Amino acid sequence: PPSQEISEGLAKIKTSGSVFYNPVQEFNRDLSIIVLNTFAKQLPQSETPLNPGVKHENGISILEALSATGLRSIRYAKEVKGVKEIIANDISSKAVEDIRRNVCDNGVNDLVVPSHDDATMLMYKCRKERRFDVIDLDPYGCPSIFLDAAVQTIKEGGLLLVTATDMAVLAGNSPETCYSKYGAISLRMKACHEMALRILLQCIESHANRYGRYIVPLLSLSADFYIRVFVRVFTSAKTCKQTLSKLSMVYHCTGCGSFQLQPLGTMRINEKNRQMKYGLPTKPPGGSCEHCNHPYHLGGPIWNAPIHSSDFLNNLQTEVSENFATFKRIQGVLSVISEELIDVPLYYTLEQLSGTLHVETPSMVAVRSAILNSGYRVSYTHMNKTSIKTDAPGRLLWDIMRTW
Ligand code: SAM
Repeated sequence: PPSQEISEGLAKIKTSGSVFYNPVQEFNRDLSIIVLNTFAKQLPQSETPLNPGVKHENGISILEALSATGLRSIRYAKEVKGVKEIIANDISSKAVEDIRRNVCDNGVNDLVVPSHDDATMLMYKCRKERRFDVIDLDPYGCPSIFLDAAVQTIKEGGLLLVTATDMAVLAGNSPETCYSKYGAISLRMKACHEMALRILLQCIESHANRYGRYIVPLLSLSADFYIRVFVRVFTSAKTCKQTLSKLSMVYHCTGCGSFQLQPLGTMRINEKNRQMKYGLPTKPPGGSCEHCNHPYHLGGPIWNAPIHSSDFLNNLQTEVSENFATFKRIQGVLSVISEELIDVPLYYTLEQLSGTLHVETPSMVAVRSAILNSGYRVSYTHMNKTSIKTDAPGRLLWDIMRTW
């Protein structure tokens, strides 16, 4: 491939042509910069009672473990306020040549250090002595082989940014492969993009739990051909015990597409010592779908807890500036995300509901009003224009569609 000169944000870079560069990911890079600026602002400079062990003196350190041209690291150096150091690493010697040249050309030698290593090895070498405030994993395809090292190499309260591009696997085309890579079975269903996000989150949580750590998702999104999650990583053996209540199996009907979640565990307070105690999972749905009697496909486990933090989203929206090339798209996506029902996993789509019943598709406004008038909540998701995310029972949705 021919060499290219690329101008993106405040960076101007050259790539030798054989090194990976994807212009479509500009949205991903712009958004990551906004997330990092928001994150850096809210970090305590010293330990606080609410953030024991969390201390980020003199700015944040970032590891871009799979950097290709160095573009992302250079943009982080120039556009994120309060950065102390960035390691831009790649396994390919051609890529590292590009990183070195681009770092010099952009005058960020004092902040960005090129590194030529296998990302996993580099993180294992750093996990004891030299942890990072931020680790960005942006691999080809599946990120799971990097997670074991990453969850150990992130500082207390640090931020892990993870991209996955193997959407076919995550969206149900290959449930066996999904299980071997992510430890969860994907389902071919309308809400497959949210399913993909929740599979990736449970995968990161399971890696973190091995080291007594757990995740708190700040923002999770599906865009173009990939998904991207932003999660903080903390340490607490006690909180790790609650993971089972943050995971669910998914029962997806092969006939009408209805779905039901079964949490792997419930948490309850032990009356004697007032401590949280792990209880039994909720009852699974019967052998077949209550609406159409078809059998279920079983998927998961998926993350069933919130995939965004409302507080973080509020702060994030104030950081969005018109200077970003993808400003309009970011604003649009974040405004839909901020309206998403945070405690309701997965969604239906309008065409799916009307298609299954062979009825004319009603207007979205009408269906949403009917749900609201019945006393339930409803929202869109950023993943689908005709999505219906609701806490209304499946029976009510089908009734609304039938009587329309
Ligand atoms: N983050 C870049 C950006 O925003 O432009 C794109 C990264 S590209 C999708 C993936 C890169 O990972 C490639 O340059 C490849 O050489 C590198 N890579 C693949 N396996 C690796 C490994 N085990 N350790 C370090 N780098 C690796």
